[in-house]
Amino acid sequence: MAIWQESFEHAQLSDVGMRRRNNQDSLGMVLAADENIWHARGHVLMVADGMGAHAAGELASKIAVDTVPHLYLKLRDLPPGEALERAIIEANSEVHRRGQANPEFHNMGTTSSVLAILPDAAWIAHIGDSRVYRLRGDCLEQLTFDHSLVWEARRDNNWPAGIDPTHALPRNVITRSLGPNAQIVVDVEGPFPVEPGDTFLLCSDGLTGALTDEELAPILAHLPAEEAAAVLVDLANLRGGPDNITVLVGRVLPAWRQKAGATPEAARRVTPPRADVHPAVWVGAGVCFLAAVGLLIARQPWLAGIGAVLGTLVAGLGWAFRGGGARTNDKAGAPNRTSKAPYTRTSCSNATQFLQKLSTLTAELRSAAVEASLDVGALDQACRQAAEAGRTGQTAQALRLYARSISSVMNEFRRRKHEANDSVVDL
Ligand code: CA
Repeated sequence: MAIWQESFEHAQLSDVGMRRRNNQDSLGMVLAADENIWHARGHVLMVADGMGAHAAGELASKIAVDTVPHLYLKLRDLPPGEALERAIIEANSEVHRRGQANPEFHNMGTTSSVLAILPDAAWIAHIGDSRVYRLRGDCLEQLTFDHSLVWEARRDNNWPAGIDPTHALPRNVITRSLGPNAQIVVDVEGPFPVEPGDTFLLCSDGLTGALTDEELAPILAHLPAEEAAAVLVDLANLRGGPDNITVLVGRVLPAWRQKAGATPEAARRVTPPRADVHPAVWVGAGVCFLAAVGLLIARQPWLAGIGAVLGTLVAGLGWAFRGGGARTNDKAGAPNRTSKAPYTRTSCSNATQFLQKLSTLTAELRSAAVEASLDVGALDQACRQAAEAGRTGQTAQALRLYARSISSVMNEFRRRKHEANDSVVDL
């Protein structure tokens, strides 16, 4: 495997959940095929959560993930942020057109959150309430704004004091999506400097409706990508799995920087674009130079010299402190119109409470496993070790042991369910 792929650890899972018959979520993970593409477009990760009757939601999310990464990779002439935005707008036209053309798919829609991770910078384009998070160190940040009734009410502050819209409004009503309308507004977030250790999570609300940010953070911090994705889905299912659950985890490894030359300094260079020199500076400098020429003609060489020096000084200072003019089109990314990320910040430095929850959950899972006549010897041993690790302050070790135990038992349940389904088909 090439280094730009090796330096990126990743995992993806999409699960129907415990209550729904169909999975209307779709995901996309397109790793850069070669080094040039990695530098120009990066790795692309996407989640889409479809909505609509019958198969419409599935179709809408599938069109979105089939269209957006593909178009983004094709739009090589545009900076990454703009290309992502354009790709979502074009996917919207396609989903909208198909929705209008067929009464069964009328008003179908989907959320769309897409992340491009280039060597130096990451960009996001987003619509709906699927989410993109970044964990850096022990801080989990939500980099996307939920286009939901709850978030809009909280932002606009149009809610009676003392009442939390999170509890008073339905949580699953979204205010923007891809598909139902001919025109859409897409949030473009970034550029976010990329550093080794950065762990990105993209997910649908089937995950975030079941787990809090305080629970997501330690899992992302302490588990390899694949184990993190597995236990996130398992935990959402253990909490009832009322919705489809989709999770993509991408982690930037130390080799990323060696290959990218993406030192923190280099990464910072892509953050806010500098502005052009203010036009007044050029006018001032021009007047000085014209005066110098005039004075030269009038045979005043000393004064002409002073005028020329003044002109040079004005132009030089204007260039050094440029900032008041029109902003340049940042070729490293795109005009940064809407990015206000991060929208939330959560620390994962204290995971003790979460370990207690995991201990309770594994005990409940053990009861279910005993009832289903599963062997719980390995589970008991892992839980004893996890409890001991928790007591001695080895949080990461305790978390890994609980997570592996949960995923192992859930896998066994899944295996049995599939076997049962197969036997029904065979009969
Ligand atoms: Ca959903």
